Amino acid sequence: MITENKVVSMMYVLQDENGNVLDTSEGKSFDFLQGHHNIIMGLEKALNGLNVGDRKHVEITPDEGYGPYDPQLKFAMNRAQFGGDSPEPGMMVELSSSAGEAFAAAVVGVEGEEVYLDANHPLAGKSLFFDVEITAIRDASEEELSHGHPHGAHSHHH
Ligand code: ZN
Repeated sequence: MITENKVVSMMYVLQDENGNVLDTSEGKSFDFLQGHHNIIMGLEKALNGLNVGDRKHVEITPDEGYGPYDPQLKFAMNRAQFGGDSPEPGMMVELSSSAGEAFAAAVVGVEGEEVYLDANHPLAGKSLFFDVEITAIRDASEEELSHGHPHGAHSHHH
């Protein structure tokens, strides 16, 4: 059964409210460590207590997903600030804040010398619809617990 500190493998498809597929595990299992925020909070909560073989449809509000959409994170910059690059709508750019922290923003429009950007997470403000199937559950190793994520074939390597 899925409880905190279990390594869980699942297949999933994530759709928006219009049925557009936003993300999928692509027919393979995706591993995560339950209780360590490897996945969004709302999904962790919904998966608690499930067993291998269980399938579940989970609806997640923006508050338990990627947060509300913040209109204040939309802003404009002068094209000259991009140096030699020519920003096009749909591009992601890496910028740094006045405090020197790097963040990503999407180019949402270009008009003359003005480049319009949006630093919201692409899924901010969206309700998320997951279809999940639990394919494996095991105890985490000490090392996995101290790293806060699973190791092994389906996850990252050190
Ligand atoms: Zn690790």
